[in-house]
Amino acid sequence: MRLLFYIILTFFTWTVSAATIDVENIRIWAAPENTRIVLDLSGPIDHELTKLNDPFRAVVDISNARLKNDLSQPVDADRYLRRLRSANHEDDLRVVLDLKKFAIVKSFQLEPNKTYGYRLVIDLSSDDNQETDVIDENTKSIDEILAPRDVVIAIDAGHGGEDPGSIGPSGTYEKDIALILAKKLVAKINQVHGMKAVLIREGDYYVRLRDRIDKARKHNADLFVSVHADAFTDPRVSGSSVYVLSQKGASSEHAKWLAAKENASDLIGGVKLEDKDDVLASVLLDLSQTASLEASIDVADKILAGLKSVGKLHKRRVESAAFAVLKSPDIPSVLVETAYISNPGEEKKLRSPSHQEALTSALLAGLEAYFRFNPPDNSIISQYRSLEYVISRGDTLSDIASRHRVSLSSLRQANGLASDKIRIGQKLIIPLSGS
Ligand SMILES: [Zn+2]
Repeated sequence: MRLLFYIILTFFTWTVSAATIDVENIRIWAAPENTRIVLDLSGPIDHELTKLNDPFRAVVDISNARLKNDLSQPVDADRYLRRLRSANHEDDLRVVLDLKKFAIVKSFQLEPNKTYGYRLVIDLSSDDNQETDVIDENTKSIDEILAPRDVVIAIDAGHGGEDPGSIGPSGTYEKDIALILAKKLVAKINQVHGMKAVLIREGDYYVRLRDRIDKARKHNADLFVSVHADAFTDPRVSGSSVYVLSQKGASSEHAKWLAAKENASDLIGGVKLEDKDDVLASVLLDLSQTASLEASIDVADKILAGLKSVGKLHKRRVESAAFAVLKSPDIPSVLVETAYISNPGEEKKLRSPSHQEALTSALLAGLEAYFRFNPPDNSIISQYRSLEYVISRGDTLSDIASRHRVSLSSLRQANGLASDKIRIGQKLIIPLSGS
């Protein structure tokens, strides 16, 4: 019996190594700080990476493989990549990456998941990533430090690049909807005097969950909002939900299931989760998270109230679960599942520009309501205790009033307006009362 087993095992090992692997497709994701090249494979491979200087090149030799399709891709605009070449040498395939400049080159294989099969990932990055974007406090004068400042809100579009997130029944990608909504929300926040938004993911590329938080921290964000569009196995499920982090456990089975799915992003995005720092980081997080969690719940409540005005809520209360992207000890963080992309009706709404407007206005109203009542020390909002709004094309006074959840009469009164006539560029005071 045992002998037979070995014979079978040997046979299988032999077939695996002898079968030629097809390189089926190639994807290039250009992020501001790195470029990721992903080769789709018909099975696992043996590969070797060699880096060469003068000119800078990375050579990937894949044993027993062949190209199924042409690899040529437009790479002109890429920061690192000049050209991609490939050639077969006997049974092996050689892929050459001609580089524009020096880059740190890393390669690793990924196992199949729901969206993709076996993949070989080649990452190009530079070592000066850590230094960019850091704001040096020492270069600021005392006056600058003491001057009233904007409230900074980090808006994160979930997923991206290799990770599409959930996919709607007509093929809408969550990553695309999240980015559209995030960009619209950023534009709206930046219209409000005393508020400034930072867009965490700016294009179609993947950002590690921890790097998202790091970017928010580098910009001294007062709040982190991650924008998503949920999916569930039952297409009838619908509505918006707002989540905060919970280390102790999820508030419902659904929240737990969703957190597990969102946290799998890093795996789909092609990040290996074997970082030793994680254990240490989680201990530190536990110590400092309580304060920011209270603020998170407060802001999540306000956002939920705002979303109620646009459509159905999935749950009336803020839910909690162990979302990795919310694990920031010092910045209150919330995750908004704007709607269920798996519900055909909601998928259609998520694609509609007018619904996107309504959703982002509701999110803004929630954020404003929170900061008006909880203004950070030394913020412009804390000084005025009211907000200033700059009129843009298409605005009407009654729209602005309902968007900020103040009555039309109190808005007129605060601004000494006799009629509802307004002009583009005009500044309005949004009063604290009436909300
Ligand atoms: Zn998501």
